[in-house]
Amino acid sequence: MDAFPLVYHYLSAWVIAPITQQFLGIFNVNGRFGMLFLCASYSVAYGLFRYRKRRGLTDARSFWQFIGGSRVNLHRSALLDYRYYFVRAILKIALVLPIVHLVDPYILRSGDYATFFSNLWGARPRLGEDFALALVYGLGVFLVKDFVHYWVHRAFHSRWLWAFHKVHHSASVLVPATASRVHFVEKVAEKLGVVACLGLFAGCFLYVCGGEISRYTLFGVTYLVFIFNSLAANLRHTHVWLSFGPALEHVLNSPAQHQIHHSDAPRHFNCNFGINLSLWDWVFGTLYVTRSQPEPLRFGIGGQDHHRYLTVYGLIVTPFVETARKCLYALKATDSGSSTPLRDIND
Ligand SMILES: [Zn+2]
Ligand SMILES: [Zn+2]
Repeated sequence: MDAFPLVYHYLSAWVIAPITQQFLGIFNVNGRFGMLFLCASYSVAYGLFRYRKRRGLTDARSFWQFIGGSRVNLHRSALLDYRYYFVRAILKIALVLPIVHLVDPYILRSGDYATFFSNLWGARPRLGEDFALALVYGLGVFLVKDFVHYWVHRAFHSRWLWAFHKVHHSASVLVPATASRVHFVEKVAEKLGVVACLGLFAGCFLYVCGGEISRYTLFGVTYLVFIFNSLAANLRHTHVWLSFGPALEHVLNSPAQHQIHHSDAPRHFNCNFGINLSLWDWVFGTLYVTRSQPEPLRFGIGGQDHHRYLTVYGLIVTPFVETARKCLYALKATDSGSSTPLRDIND
């Protein structure tokens, strides 16, 4: 049997196609990292640069310097982000989608919930197509997704999941591609959480409207994400300080708030878990608001952990090694009947 066509087939399906798709993703408007949104974000940054330059609020001599120059955008950590952005496409095909696909049949869908409610309370009259309903549905999907992201993010800051989320926080400089520096385990948890909660929400909506949900998804599902992505979402992972001010930051998550989330200063730990909205941070007591005056920040995880996350291999494998070590340590402590509270063995 000729091995070459077989090797080429697998190489094409598992490596070439995903990487090509990921590259082409830069030109569409579905992801935050699209060219359109990058241009929108850097246009806002340019406006800020001109404003601050006129008022003598920045020492940067050029816009390139204002956005960090090669010190940030060509930093070793940034170069790793650019590489990982493409490796992530392979991980998605090889691991994330197959795992989600395995669990997916066990997750209740909108139809299951609608049938359950119909059996419980009887069927409801079918509402006609309505633009307002499409907007409400879109708003609901956006809120549910953002809420799930908040809690998944918060969960990954807990002791047992932190090793996986540390991948994202290990970036010692922030560039838009840092948003993609997420471990595949976190991605799987996020996807499953969103699918499960959206199923419940869509089921309730479907029951109340007495019809098919597809009629309300026209553009409603993505319109708010599109608006938020256009509002300089890419500046969250940059060194450009953009605060929305304390009042607005109780609802909307500003780039400065997310930069605070990446700070390695203990006073900034465990705050601003929100993605698009900081409303959840406000409601659940993890809010940190910023002002127009930039705060001096240093990003990353610092200490002895830093060197473990300097390669693509390190980003993928280190969290498993760290978690296994934690489990062993916990087991040993239990066996020896130690009353010493568990502590992070990497501290
Ligand atoms: Zn985080
Ligand atoms: Zn981040």
